[in-house]
Amino acid sequence: MSNPAPTPANPKTYRVKSFGCQMNVYDGDRMAELLAEQGITPAPEGEDADLVVLNTCHIREKAAEKVYSDIGRLRREDGSSPLIAVAGCVAQAEGEEIMARAPAVKMVVGPQAYHRLPDMVKAASEGRRMTDTDMPAETKFDALPKRRRSGPTAFLTVQEGCDKFCTYCVVPYTRGAEISRPHADLIEEAKRLVEAGAREITLLGQNVNAWTGENAKGQAVGLDGLIRELAEIPDLARIRYTTSHPNDMTPGLIEAHGDVAKLMPFLHLPVQSGSDRVLKAMNRAHQVEKYLTILEEVRKARPDIALSGDFIVGFPGETDAEFEETLKLVDTVGYAQCFSFKYSPRPGTPAATMGEQVPMPVMDERLKRLQTALNRDQYAFNTASVGKTCEVLVERRGKHPGQWLGKSPWLQSVHFTGDVAVGDVVTVELVEAGPNSIAGALKVPASA
Ligand code: SAM
Ligand code: SF4
Repeated sequence: MSNPAPTPANPKTYRVKSFGCQMNVYDGDRMAELLAEQGITPAPEGEDADLVVLNTCHIREKAAEKVYSDIGRLRREDGSSPLIAVAGCVAQAEGEEIMARAPAVKMVVGPQAYHRLPDMVKAASEGRRMTDTDMPAETKFDALPKRRRSGPTAFLTVQEGCDKFCTYCVVPYTRGAEISRPHADLIEEAKRLVEAGAREITLLGQNVNAWTGENAKGQAVGLDGLIRELAEIPDLARIRYTTSHPNDMTPGLIEAHGDVAKLMPFLHLPVQSGSDRVLKAMNRAHQVEKYLTILEEVRKARPDIALSGDFIVGFPGETDAEFEETLKLVDTVGYAQCFSFKYSPRPGTPAATMGEQVPMPVMDERLKRLQTALNRDQYAFNTASVGKTCEVLVERRGKHPGQWLGKSPWLQSVHFTGDVAVGDVVTVELVEAGPNSIAGALKVPASA
């Protein structure tokens, strides 16, 4: 890939493209805020931007390859390119390779260093290429601007990094060790988001339920303590959190599902496999029985909870019988929705060099069977919701005239018509289930 023409000095417009998890979406928003503070404005829809940030994901192979094709696509007809920054986990893991392979890239910035983006843009405008993949001890959050914008739903990163070292996963290497952001900072950021219009906040972390902190009284609190305090913010209507690890599912957090009304009845708790042998090889440090016990306790605290999870098929050495155990677990739980992936060997992780890598056609077949079961259960969950009346947070207009889209408490997409506005929490009867959404009928506006 060559880039003969000069890149624009002093960019006036930017575009941030985020791939992968919700934490990347959060980081992408924060980078946009940083660039806006420099007087750079979002490029209008359909127009070229002077500066493009590709905020990448390294969790699976295709995601990394996609970055290179995106860099190629940014090339204009005259051979020039915008100023390109590659951020996120691919930048962290393969920064040097990107610089060598893609001369059009002028900046490589890791997930713990993106607060330095403005300096890097300045250097790039002067023709210098820069890489910053440091994982500084001081937190980047202190260097980021205060939150001033929000839609009706907002993400709030409370915890970053991971110490669990599942044998297939790059996160501990790309995002570093587990850190929890201070309690006071989070309360302040949440209040700002609510002032800016957020009605729902989703607390984010690679292991969000590993968050710990100290409240204003100097008491040690876990995620449940933080949730209880956030629930006191008057105009905040809903709280969610993701992604949790089974081993950090504390009794306090389970209890909060029963007694914090603003905490939505939805739990994303990845299990990855239904086989104890595979879980051990994955270094998950929990077994199927323990996982099921946690779900039972959560259901006791909040009987209508919608359950979600992540699965990997074709982990090295996974046999047909072990895969059948995963299908059995799916049947036992009855998930409301799930993510499922084919195992992807990640360089530098222990599983990548394990023997007995499962052939691709076998993984394809297993994923198809798993997804058929998960889709069946998602549709069943949606169908069972028909006839319920619930609150829906209005997020945006739908495709059809007068149509609105929002989410049920169980994170289902609901569409309906009526006289409402974005950010309203309205009462809707769920009338017809589809595989991925539900048609609703507006009852009365609940609270504006
Ligand atoms: N911390 C969360 C947990 O422990 O479940 C998940 C974070 S990870 C970013 C999201 C999901 O990606 C994982 O739950 C797993 O299912 C999937 N994943 C991670 N590494 C993978 C790999 N090498 N191949 C396929 N899927 C992978
Ligand atoms: Fe990756 Fe496991 Fe950490 Fe989740 S818990 S981020 S899957 S290492």
